[in-house]
Amino acid sequence: THFGFETVSEAEKAHKVKSVFENVADRYDVMNDCMSAGVHRIWKDIFVHRINPGSKTRMIDVAGGTGDIAFRFLKFQRASASDPFRVGSPISVLDPRVELPPEQPRAENEAEAQYQAIGSQSQSNSAENEEVTSRSVLVSDINPRMLEVGQKRALTALSANEQKRIDWLEADAENLASIPDDSFDIYTIAFGIRNCVHIENVIHEAYRVLKPGGRFMCLEFSHVPNSLLRWVYDQYSFQVIPAMGQVIAGDWDSYKYLVESIRKFPSQDEFKSLIQEAGFRFVSYENLTFGVTAIHSGYKI
Ligand code: SAM
Repeated sequence: THFGFETVSEAEKAHKVKSVFENVADRYDVMNDCMSAGVHRIWKDIFVHRINPGSKTRMIDVAGGTGDIAFRFLKFQRASASDPFRVGSPISVLDPRVELPPEQPRAENEAEAQYQAIGSQSQSNSAENEEVTSRSVLVSDINPRMLEVGQKRALTALSANEQKRIDWLEADAENLASIPDDSFDIYTIAFGIRNCVHIENVIHEAYRVLKPGGRFMCLEFSHVPNSLLRWVYDQYSFQVIPAMGQVIAGDWDSYKYLVESIRKFPSQDEFKSLIQEAGFRFVSYENLTFGVTAIHSGYKI
C-alpha cells in the first residue's frame, strides 16, 4: 500500500505510514490480492525473473514487508540450481502450484562456504554486520509487524534450507546504517519507495550498499501513458479501490491516499533521471500492464 498523506508534514507522513502498516500487517497479503485481482503476483514473478539470480547472488530486499520478493528470489535460485540451463517462463518457475524438485540436504559447513559473509571489503567488520549480510537474502523493513508476519509465512512458504538463507532486519530505507558499503549483488524495492519521505536518500543508500557491478531494481506503481486506458484505470482507482478499502479494512481514506500517492509519484522518465543522478549507469525501465507498474533497473559501475 502506498500512502501519500499530501497535507501532512514529512514527520507525520513517516509516522502515519508506519502506523498504517502496523494495522494492516495481518491482512496485507489478502488486500493485495483483492485490489489487484491477484495481478501483483504476476508483476512480482516478472520482477524476480528479470533479476535472474544465480545460485550465489546475494540480495537485499528493502521495504520487503512480508517477504513476497525474497521468497520468489529463493525459489528462483532453487529452480536454477536444479537446472542451470533452464529456459522457461517466469510463471512456470515461480508459480507455487508448480512442483519444484526437492532440495538436496546440504551440510551446514558447505552451506556456510557457499554463502560466505559478504561485505569483507567494507570498513565495518562487526559481528552483527557480518550476521545480517551472511545469507542469500536480507529482507529489511521499517515496520517490525510486517517482518513478523513475513517470518511466520516463511515457516510454511520456504523449505528448511531456504529458511536458513533469509535474514530479517528492521531498518529505514533512507538510512541502512547497519549495512556495510558494497555488500550486495542486487538491491530490490517493490511497492516500497513511494512510502518513503525522501526517495533520493533511498536511491543513494541503494548505491552505497551495492557492490560495484551490482544492480538496483525497483518495482513500483507508475503512470499509464495511453489516455483511454488511463481513463479506465482512473475510474477503477478512484471509485473501486477506496470502496474496497472500506469493505476489507474499514478504511476509505487510507485507500484514497493510496491512489493519490500513486498519481504523485514521479513518471517513468522522471524516476529514471533520479536513479541516474544517484550515479547508476545503464538505467532503463519496463512498463507492466500498460504502465500501471514499472520496473526500473540501474547498475553501480
Ligand atoms: N515489498 C513488499 C511487497 O511487495 O509485498 C511490501 C510492500 S508494502 C506495499 C510497503 C512496505 O514499505 C511496508 O512493509 C512498509 O512497512 C515499508 N516501508 C514504508 N516506509 C519505509 C521506509 N522508510 N523504510 C523501509 N520500509 C518502509
